[in-house]
Amino acid sequence: MALTGIQIFKFLPGAKKTSNANCKKCGCITCMAYAMKLAKGEANINSCPFIEEELKQTFSHENRKPQTKVTFGSKKKITIGDETVMFRHDKTFVNPCGFAIKISSSDKNFDKKLKKILDYKIERIGEEFRIDSIMLINDSSDFVLKAKNVLETNTPTILVTDNVGSIKNSIDLIREKQPLIYLTEQKLEDLLYTEKITPIIIDGKNPKELSQKSATLQKAGAKNMVLNLLQEVNSNIIEPLTMLRRSAIEKKFEPLGLPVMMNYSLCNNIAIDTIKLATLICKYCNLLVLDQLNSALLSALITLRMNIYTDPQKPLQVEPKLYEIGEVNPNSKVMVTTNFALTYFAVVNELEGMAEGSYLIITDSDGMSVLTAWSASKFTGEIIAKAVKNSFITEKINHKNIIIPGLASDLLEEIREELPEFNIIAGPNEATDLPEFLKNCF
Ligand code: SF4
Repeated sequence: MALTGIQIFKFLPGAKKTSNANCKKCGCITCMAYAMKLAKGEANINSCPFIEEELKQTFSHENRKPQTKVTFGSKKKITIGDETVMFRHDKTFVNPCGFAIKISSSDKNFDKKLKKILDYKIERIGEEFRIDSIMLINDSSDFVLKAKNVLETNTPTILVTDNVGSIKNSIDLIREKQPLIYLTEQKLEDLLYTEKITPIIIDGKNPKELSQKSATLQKAGAKNMVLNLLQEVNSNIIEPLTMLRRSAIEKKFEPLGLPVMMNYSLCNNIAIDTIKLATLICKYCNLLVLDQLNSALLSALITLRMNIYTDPQKPLQVEPKLYEIGEVNPNSKVMVTTNFALTYFAVVNELEGMAEGSYLIITDSDGMSVLTAWSASKFTGEIIAKAVKNSFITEKINHKNIIIPGLASDLLEEIREELPEFNIIAGPNEATDLPEFLKNCF
């Protein structure tokens, strides 16, 4: 377990009341402030000249990040790993499991498949998702050319080839584009040579094999590595994957404190593929490589991933401002609601389906839904009035009607006091009732 600020403080001159206490040499105003910063990873253990060796050793062991972060790609990058907990409810998950699609250099439909991968996109709650990475397999004489094509797309790339010889002539491009490299022959000297240039993949049939190979490479100075578990994805797969994550997080076992990837070949029974891949996303893959692109499957997986990797401590929010939905005109209706993303999209979804355009004023309510914001005083008459005034809506409409959510109808009087020039109306409680309400309200 990482040392807390109080535990660290006990080792410092401030707690021992020696002559150096609170000397500020570390840049902090007190020893306690320094201890708190150290615990949060915001200060350096060597900044205090009076720290005892015992604390340095305990600190470097206990406060070490349990799983290394690996980033590959140059202009567009993907970061995997850096996880600190076994379960999201313990704190949060950090970097979403990356999705890569495999393509062979010998594929007769190479260009078509590459285009399909690059063109794939899906939108969820206002965010656009694309394929995170392309894995290119060397199985033809024009591999180097194809690798150049893929790297030039700036999509984070995984290059798979048997030995380092086939990529040595492209080393400058590799240095620039920073692909993840998988040398399938796994010769120690080749792996060490490549890892000095860009991140690498090491493979093993089980956690033991992976830990032995990783320990040897780490001893030789390698850090930037991803573990590829070579196992079939069946009902037993959770065991080795949990073992790998537990070794990293709970035991802080350095050889296994690395991101984990798995390869998966679709069986094209979408129910089975979805269940197996959902299992891998939940427990505990940092990178998933699929042998083909199936849009329906990916839309389910991306939605699941978004759910798991959204930090529940940070509500999804949209920017507080005036939104124009559809073709607006001076007669368009005006609504106000909070900046909780789900509230916003529920309302927009209904408004977009209507023939007439409308205005939607979004307040700054810390990403809370209407009732939560109202009870936390984040959706008040004053806040709504401020948002309405800042929107300059009066310059766009020729009426004075503003509709607020029905759930906030207790605020009607308060808003009317703040905005006496407007006619404030309570709308329905549910967004789904908005179209009917708007047809008949005025
Ligand atoms: Fe305390 Fe900072 Fe001085 Fe160390 S350097 S004794 S932590 S104030």
